Amino acid sequence: MEQTREQRRAMAIRELNDHYDHKRRDPDNCIGCAHQENPPNVAGWLRVWIAAGNTIPAEHFVTEITYAQEENQAYFKAILQEVKDFGLTVERSK
Ligand SMILES: [Zn+2]
Repeated sequence: MEQTREQRRAMAIRELNDHYDHKRRDPDNCIGCAHQENPPNVAGWLRVWIAAGNTIPAEHFVTEITYAQEENQAYFKAILQEVKDFGLTVERSK
């Protein structure tokens, strides 16, 4: 069954806040912590951030989408679809 937009957003928010392994046994491989690094240290992070409705720093957005366009067309297309489905908030450069 296809997920609704709200379900996808809720999943993305859960992934951003997932410190399960951190609390249990393996803090070095904690997805929640990796998402808080600057830039986030999680493969495919930009899709999750867009779906969650997070504001994305402009420099990290440009770096990640350039990487995707040059190295991973499937990821690039998936990012564009997330933008269509959820919109995009990019933080103004300082
Ligand atoms: Zn953590």
